[in-house]
Amino acid sequence: MAGKVIILCAPSGSGKTTLAKHLLNQEMFNLRFSTSATTRKKRENETNGIDYHFITIKEFENKISQGEFIEYEKVYDDVYYGTLKSEIKELIKNYNIIFDVDVIGALSLKKYFTEQALTIFINPPSLEELRKRLIERGLNSKDDLEERLNKAKKEIEMKLSFDHSVTNDKLDFTKSKISEIVKVFLKN
Ligand code: ADP
Ligand code: 5GP
Repeated sequence: MAGKVIILCAPSGSGKTTLAKHLLNQEMFNLRFSTSATTRKKRENETNGIDYHFITIKEFENKISQGEFIEYEKVYDDVYYGTLKSEIKELIKNYNIIFDVDVIGALSLKKYFTEQALTIFINPPSLEELRKRLIERGLNSKDDLEERLNKAKKEIEMKLSFDHSVTNDKLDFTKSKISEIVKVFLKN
């Protein structure tokens, strides 16, 4: 079972990382995470090459001009994120792949992988709850927090473009719901 693509998408703080880890832990799904490249600063809890390939703006722009990305974007002001063709090429022969990207990236990847791909939008229960989770996670400055919340509002408006939209209220319930969606997709 290989060659399929799961694209998880959600406003920052909605639980994508938590849910992606839950799916990756289920051996029967044979999933591997697509590590994106980014120019943002590495956080203390992150590992280069695992969470992201952390590169400079110059390196990123060089890769753009060499056509090395399937998709890339300036997700936040002056911060690039992108999916490298080299990351996927070998992985997809032996595994199913899970992506954690923003809305525009998700729709670009869906266009690229077409029916091989399933898009899932993770909805926060509310913007107030999203703010609370971002503050509790404690990784963002105040300006950064407001930028993420503003972006969240726009992203939520696009959820109907996804194959599935799941509200992450009670975590255990969301985990089972997403596992079931993925199970059905990978089986067919
Ligand atoms: P993302 O990857 O979308 O930015 P995370 O997975 O890092 O989001 O989750 C953001 C924070 O919210 C984390 O502290 C996480 O433990 C918490 N969280 C995730 N899902 C839930 C939930 N259903 N209820 C309460 N807290 C949650
Ligand atoms: P964070 O800085 O919180 O890790 O991620 C910020 C946002 O960038 C998230 O919405 C995440 O899904 C998105 N992102 C991560 N990698 C990529 C990528 O390769 N392409 C695109 N388009 N977005 C990405």
